[in-house]
Order: sequence, then C-alpha cells, then structure tokens
Amino acid sequence: MPLSTVPAAPGQCIFCRLVAGEIPASRVYEDEQTIAFMDLGQLNPGHTLVAVKRHAATLLDLTPDEAAAAMRTAQRVAQAVAAAFDPPGITLLQANGREGEQTVFHFHLHVVPRHAGDGVGLAWPRKDPPRELLEGYAERLRRALASAG
Ligand SMILES: [Zn+2]
Repeated sequence: MPLSTVPAAPGQCIFCRLVAGEIPASRVYEDEQTIAFMDLGQLNPGHTLVAVKRHAATLLDLTPDEAAAAMRTAQRVAQAVAAAFDPPGITLLQANGREGEQTVFHFHLHVVPRHAGDGVGLAWPRKDPPRELLEGYAERLRRALASAG
C-alpha cells in the first residue's frame, strides 16, 4: 500500500524549487546528493533540514545510496550543530506519509537541537502486546524482508 502523500505538480515542489535556487533558503551544506538548510520554523536555534536533491517523496522512494547520503549529511550537520550551538540533546526526525506527520512531500529529515523543557514532543502511546503477537509481527517482517531479496 503506498504511503498517503500529496504529489506536487512538476516544478512546483517547494524543496525542488529550493534546490534549484528559485526560492531563498539559508543553506548551510551541499554535496552531490543532499542539501542542508535552516528550517523556517526553528523549534530551537540551529534546527536544520537535510533533503535529497532529486525529487523523492518519502524514504521508500530513495535509492539505498541516497538514503546513506542523507544520513551522512545528517550526522555531519548534527556535529556542526553540537559545535555551534552546544545543545545538551539532538533529535533526528524523519516523517513519511500524511499520517506519519509528513507535511512537505519531498524526502527530508530534521536535525533538532534539544534542551530540557523545550516543549518539543512526540506522543508515544505504547501498546505492549503479548509476546506471541510480537512474534507474529516479527514473522510478517521476516517474510517481507526475505521476499524483498
Ligand atoms: Zn521535490
């Protein structure tokens, strides 16, 4: 089942336009496959977005190499955030699909500097299923992983 995303008209995706230099952004890093720039919302000072340059809506649409490149850039940016802003914590957030809290449907991840009591939160409603149900979930995943080859 495809993730619930909103396709952008060709040339209209806001991050594609940003990559093309058609709209302003406070860029901090760029390489062949990725770009990093300041999030307009700034949950905390230093909040940065890492996006792939090629239009890909979600994690599932990336090539393995793009996924690796995005995480390499996220680590590099996190190291710079630590050096420049010295936050006591850093959270990476990557959302996919409307129900996954994704709002811009071009793959990106957030590097968020964190501080005690900063009000940033993610509801975490644990279900704690019984062991046999958990093993059933694992079996479904093992089959999917095996057939994905
Ligand atoms: Zn795009």
